[in-house]
Amino acid sequence: MSDDGAFTYHGGKVAPGERQNIRYGISETYLGDPVRIPVSIINGEKPGPTVFISAAAHGDELNGIEVVREVAYEWDLSDLAGTLVCMPVLNVPGFLFQQRYLPIYDRDLNRSFPGRPDSTSAKRMAHRIFTNFIEPCDFGLDFHTSTRGRTNMLHVRADMSDDKVARLAQGFGTHVIIDSEGPSGSLRGEASRAGVPTITIEMGEAHRFQRVLIDEALAGVESVFAEYELRKTTAVRWPGWRTIITGDQEKTWIRADAGGIVDMHFERGSLVHEGDPICTITNPFKDDNTFIEAPFTGLLVGLLENPVVYPGNPLCHLVELDDVTRRVVEQEQSPEHEHHT
Ligand SMILES: [Zn+2]
Repeated sequence: MSDDGAFTYHGGKVAPGERQNIRYGISETYLGDPVRIPVSIINGEKPGPTVFISAAAHGDELNGIEVVREVAYEWDLSDLAGTLVCMPVLNVPGFLFQQRYLPIYDRDLNRSFPGRPDSTSAKRMAHRIFTNFIEPCDFGLDFHTSTRGRTNMLHVRADMSDDKVARLAQGFGTHVIIDSEGPSGSLRGEASRAGVPTITIEMGEAHRFQRVLIDEALAGVESVFAEYELRKTTAVRWPGWRTIITGDQEKTWIRADAGGIVDMHFERGSLVHEGDPICTITNPFKDDNTFIEAPFTGLLVGLLENPVVYPGNPLCHLVELDDVTRRVVEQEQSPEHEHHT
């Protein structure tokens, strides 16, 4: 931010009280046409933090696109105290192909940050995004979904050893936070290391708009805006229960030992008890079934969605809960719960 409160990027400036919807060039196609990403910069009349909200760094992860667009174009931002930098589609080449990676040599844009101006095509794109729209921010939210063919419950990934990142993660108000340093080259990891605390929000499946999850994520953004006083909204959200999953907690991707067609017996977000049959792997004749039992009591954070596996393919992501949290979740998920609330 400059002294007059304007947001500046290479080639432009957005003064307080102004909004700009721009298409910003980050590369060029084989035909020499610009590759441009949509960016909306909304500079509030009142001073406050500068926040980026981004999605589709993986081109087929769509839920976050709708979250960013509803914040930018449907919310009443007339009393905004601060600046929003909204980027609904970071990986435009991947988005056009509806695939995770940049089609150019299958590079992962989300392993190419902070980028370099003189390196690979992916790193050049990352560099344009990072220097213009990430570095000037005070913090950021980057939306993802599960990898194609799988789904996950809405959760936050954050480096909880960094106090500023932890504040942001708690502010989003999800039940589950997975505590990890962002991978090298990821937007979350590199932005946080560059002094722009960033969390990722994982939600649902690729290739879909999932309304329930989008609404839940919008409530999370609203909660973050309350935490940092960007908007006069409701209070910071307390999700009712919360578990922060750390490195030493029991958690595992349960993998198939047999190839086959999978019959899943639980939904994402379900609590399963040790010994519960999570799913059954069947052959084409349904006469030689393999039952997969929960190795410990925990929460199904991630699940297979496309019901076919080779041996070694992941079936579900199970994480242990401490006893207190487990009892709260048990109560919440019991059939009687509906009647009491
Ligand atoms: Zn992703």
